[in-house]
Amino acid sequence: IGAQVFGQKNFLTAVDAVSLEVRKGQTTGVVGESGCGKSTTGRIALGLEQADGGQVLFEGIPLPQADTKDWRAKRQRMQLVFQDTLAALDRRMTVGDLIAEPLIIHRIGKARDHAQRVLELLEAVGLSRHHQALYPHQLSGGQRQRVVLARALAPNPSLLVCDEPVSALDVSVQAQIVNLLMDLQREHGLGILFISHDLRIVRHVSDRIVVMYLGRVVEEGRADAVIDRPAHPYTRALVSALP
Ligand code: ATP
Ligand code: MG
Repeated sequence: IGAQVFGQKNFLTAVDAVSLEVRKGQTTGVVGESGCGKSTTGRIALGLEQADGGQVLFEGIPLPQADTKDWRAKRQRMQLVFQDTLAALDRRMTVGDLIAEPLIIHRIGKARDHAQRVLELLEAVGLSRHHQALYPHQLSGGQRQRVVLARALAPNPSLLVCDEPVSALDVSVQAQIVNLLMDLQREHGLGILFISHDLRIVRHVSDRIVVMYLGRVVEEGRADAVIDRPAHPYTRALVSALP
């Protein structure tokens, strides 16, 4: 991924010479302080933001130009989960309709099978059929994040980009959602790009860790190596603050 510049008058290099990899069935954690370019990196990976250099490979093939038919087909298989569940979920729709929506949009399966698929997805994320009739504001934050996950799983993605997926939740609920993600990963062989400012969680979920600082990757490696032998001063500071 090459330099990414926002705006026209005041140029800002949000992400510079970032290179990272997410393998099938594995988690790559991206950690770094606010504004260091984590979300921009995730959005570039999905083609939601255009980098002005470099390339994104998905399943070994360059990601097609955004908003094309080819891109939409790939985009189904790369889903984004972010922290603001109220923004992610249309408050006028029930949980059942919210989970069925991606099936309809992407024309997945037959309409008469959607109800059954919704039940399966609810179960996969630890919700029950009784949640179907509820609206987003009638759910807890953790339950809403489960609905967001069910929607993301509906098109059978091979990659999930999780941008601070648990940052808005309290600690015990964070653990539930993180464990659910790990279970789903094992079951479906998902690759996960897990973005968080919290090294504690990143360390728990990641096979590899990428540390970003001021728009650059300053450290990258196997999670245990990064934690045990941090090379960059910023990583050392992060690691020394771990409980
Ligand atoms: P946080 O931890 O706060 O979510 P982040 O690491 O995800 O931060 P980014 O959102 O990627 O950081 O932002 C990187 C830089 O790009 C920041 O300086 C930010 O202000 C800037 N930026 C991000 N999105 C835009 C945008 N749409 N227009 C202009 N600048 C932007
Ligand atoms: Mg961010």
